[in-house]
Amino acid sequence: MENNKLADCADCGLSRNERICMNPQGRASKGCPTASEKKEIEKAKSIYENPDIKEFARQASLQESQCYSGRDKKPYTMRPTKPRIQEICEFAQKMNYTRLGLIFCVGMAREAKMVSAILSKQGFEVVSIVCKVGCVPKEEIGIKEEEKIFIGQHETMCNPIAQALIANNEKTQFNILLGLCVGHDSLFFKFADAPTTVLAVKDRVTGHNPLAAIYTSGSYYAWLNQKTDK
Ligand code: SF4
Repeated sequence: MENNKLADCADCGLSRNERICMNPQGRASKGCPTASEKKEIEKAKSIYENPDIKEFARQASLQESQCYSGRDKKPYTMRPTKPRIQEICEFAQKMNYTRLGLIFCVGMAREAKMVSAILSKQGFEVVSIVCKVGCVPKEEIGIKEEEKIFIGQHETMCNPIAQALIANNEKTQFNILLGLCVGHDSLFFKFADAPTTVLAVKDRVTGHNPLAAIYTSGSYYAWLNQKTDK
């Protein structure tokens, strides 16, 4: 950070076309990292010079644009065409990955079976690993009886580090996360060797659509705008 203002793109007051990050003739807003973080932006550019990273980024960018149809039409209005599972398969094919890790939550076991079948039919070898792998009791990480979901019973901890180590051991080339909890997903990212993408995140009350609570934060979820005690 080159000044005391933290990056604040979320609160940028400029229209898309006025923004310096969207338009080389554009302007910087308050807390604009395009204006204040030039050193980091240059550092990032040098990281993209690594041929493997550059190719990964190039294929990701190709995949991004290929998710829209009719791009040769002028004026162009965006027409997205592909669901994320298709995007993931196409990107993995572009990168010549043959062995994929499907890293899932036991609460989405049914979905994992369907996703695994789709990936197999698309020609990938699938290594699938559930969060409860290892049957390690929650007491191992200091959880007390009254802190469990099912008080008074054995409860297996979610084990994202074991999921990552098993995926690493089985040499997955690309991992796909399906429904891992907040924090468990973070540990998986930290310990996985292969790059990882997310097919879906868990949201227990919105059918795994966390933006539902955001979209309704002006009405039914208005209480989210007040600081809550945990
Ligand atoms: S980089 Fe600057 S111009 Fe772009 S969204 Fe962030 S604050 Fe706004």
